[in-house]
Amino acid sequence: MPAFDFDLFVIGGGSGGVRAARFAGQRGVRVALAEDRQLGGTCVNVGCIPKKLYSYAAEYAEGFADAAGYGWRMPARPTLDWEVLKTNRAQSIGHLNGIYGRLLSGANVQQIQGRARLVDANTVEVTHADGHASRHTAAVILIATGGRPWVPELPGRELAVVSDDVFDLPVFPRRLVVVGGGYIGCEFASIFHGMGAEVTLLYRGEQILRGFDDEVRDFVAEEMRKAGVDVRVQAQVTRIEAAGNARRVHLADGTTLEADVVLYATGRRANTEGLGLEAVGVRTDARGAIEIGAHFATSAPGIYALGDVVGGLELTPVALAEGMALVDHLFGPLPGHARRTMNYDDIPTAVFTHPPIGTVGLTESAAREKCGAIRVYRSDFRPLQHSLSGRSQRSLVKLVVDDATDRVVGAHMVGADAGEIIQGFAVAIKAGATKAQFDATIGIHPTSAEEFVTLREVTRT
Ligand code: FAD
Repeated sequence: MPAFDFDLFVIGGGSGGVRAARFAGQRGVRVALAEDRQLGGTCVNVGCIPKKLYSYAAEYAEGFADAAGYGWRMPARPTLDWEVLKTNRAQSIGHLNGIYGRLLSGANVQQIQGRARLVDANTVEVTHADGHASRHTAAVILIATGGRPWVPELPGRELAVVSDDVFDLPVFPRRLVVVGGGYIGCEFASIFHGMGAEVTLLYRGEQILRGFDDEVRDFVAEEMRKAGVDVRVQAQVTRIEAAGNARRVHLADGTTLEADVVLYATGRRANTEGLGLEAVGVRTDARGAIEIGAHFATSAPGIYALGDVVGGLELTPVALAEGMALVDHLFGPLPGHARRTMNYDDIPTAVFTHPPIGTVGLTESAAREKCGAIRVYRSDFRPLQHSLSGRSQRSLVKLVVDDATDRVVGAHMVGADAGEIIQGFAVAIKAGATKAQFDATIGIHPTSAEEFVTLREVTRT
């Protein structure tokens, strides 16, 4: 057995990489982690966290408007100071970067700043900011390099920005065009609209948010339109051109749109370029994502991959759970703890549109395909808060039930705090709760969540 510098070398200090390195370090394993940007990866620096902070910023605007119906008199129309928001966000994220560094040091993980590539199945070369390179050997290598925004080929694509850029736009856009109907595009459309921009969302397909429950998709599109986002489906961008300081977006139907900023949110690709994968025999698929088999093993012995770079469910809690499952597989669980494994069923998720979506389990159409006979329960209502605010926003709650077993196989919500509410119901669904058990649960009154335990109206299909 050759002597290696480390037992585990992790490439990428994002959600999956940091969690795996830290967990391995806690087991007394000799670990190194290379990161060429900031610790915390996409989620902390240009994803979940800054996005949620900006979503809160947008919510205040709704609150100010709603407050009048509750008797509040505002001295003047509140305005957003974009510079203050950016500075405070950067400060808060800088604080998180520091926490990640301390967590790694606390677990005795050696942090190496620089861009890593594989030299052979046990050697990683890291190129540092000053240009010099260092080589490190390890028994096991983990690739957790995540992904990056992808923009299709089209004339003028260099005039568009991507989600990585949007948090630090030098000037707040008065008019914003968002291209893409996935969750990231929809979230930014809602957020920038809430913060005061005029927003047009362009999506080439028939309805935004492909993959979510169809009724939820229709409901959210309608609520976003009611709130003032110009959601246009079956809209295909052909080119972008500069128009003074602005951008002109040309559509396939011959119309044009002008905006200060065009944000492309048309998907992401795995960060696999320049990693030296071919040389060591790590196979990737047509989109560049690393192919893995059981226990996150790549096609090259001793090399593993997880998180967004493998192109599965691209969510932070998934990358974290994968990191922990891999460490238990490679080095065993901590004494007294059960071995963690990965289970991809019933993973809850939220979309921070305004109003937000929370969802867990099967959509109505997926349930019909999987279970055959199903029952669907739904309620579409005006939340109590808006009886005084005057806002016309409505909420939707929906349960999908397997008719044969009475098990609730899907729960979906559109409305305030949907993510917070669905997280709790996800435990029940993961535990196999039946509709009868939902019905036997007493509601908390007055809340929107109580609708989930009082649903009576049924559609059988
Ligand atoms: P990353 O977090 O991307 O980390 C990879 C790291 O590897 C990066 O820091 C990168 O710099 C580094 N790296 C890459 N190549 C190299 C190299 N050669 N050498 C050294 N370092 C390298 N998920 C949620 O669960 N909830 C959300 O609300 C949510 N919102 C999102 C919003 C946006 C705008 C985006 C873009 C993503 C969002 N996500 C959300 C997804 C989430 O951020 C990712 O699923 C998660 O960060 C994946 O973790 P990871 O460890 O696989 O990769």
